[in-house]
Amino acid sequence: MRRKEYACPNGCSLPPRRKQLREYNDGTYGFDFYDFTFCPCCGSLMPYSLKKLKGFFEVYNIHAALSDAVQLIYKSEFESAAREAFVAVESYLKKKSGLDSHGFDLATRALSFETDKQTGEIKRAPLIAINDLKNESQRNEQDGIRYMLMGFFQGPRNLYQHNHIGSGVSNSISVIIEASFFLHLLDGHSITQNGRWIPEKADYREIYQKMPKRIDRWRLVRLLKKRARMLKKNP
Ligand SMILES: [Zn+2]
Repeated sequence: MRRKEYACPNGCSLPPRRKQLREYNDGTYGFDFYDFTFCPCCGSLMPYSLKKLKGFFEVYNIHAALSDAVQLIYKSEFESAAREAFVAVESYLKKKSGLDSHGFDLATRALSFETDKQTGEIKRAPLIAINDLKNESQRNEQDGIRYMLMGFFQGPRNLYQHNHIGSGVSNSISVIIEASFFLHLLDGHSITQNGRWIPEKADYREIYQKMPKRIDRWRLVRLLKKRARMLKKNP
């Protein structure tokens, strides 16, 4: 009998869980369990891997627009999860740029800009600017993300659309993480700005009022004071 966390949640019958001879990454050998991430019969995530995945997504700052995609992963619908992630990025691009095109073309038109070769001034601003485009690094970021997005749609998205992918859970997770990276950038969280995410503007008064624990309210006040001091130093 397999313990519940290593057994298929749909009740598929699997060989007993036994220690098997295996080679480790450092070239040594030993006997260890060889566990399936998902059921080899029906493709459903094993309870223990589902739990680990949930833990991962809890600490990973996944963009809110991808919550449906993440839920699909939890339901072991890996291909639908990836497709949902592509749709989320495409809709976001459309909404932000006001364009009505798709995929590759949409990414190209939404993020491209022109500069004057002599003066370096921006001649045509992009519909979506990831940063202020003030220096070379920022312009490189804008161009680089545009190329990545173009590739994201031209490659993985088209492959998924035409079912040319035997999609396991790892591929779908990669797509979701990539999509999240793009979405955070499109929100204006440029990676050139001090190399950190700029915190969202929030109504801290409301947050404070909705904090039942006194210690949390005290922490929030301390955090805001610290932030105010830092802003004074480097505005
Ligand atoms: Zn199964």
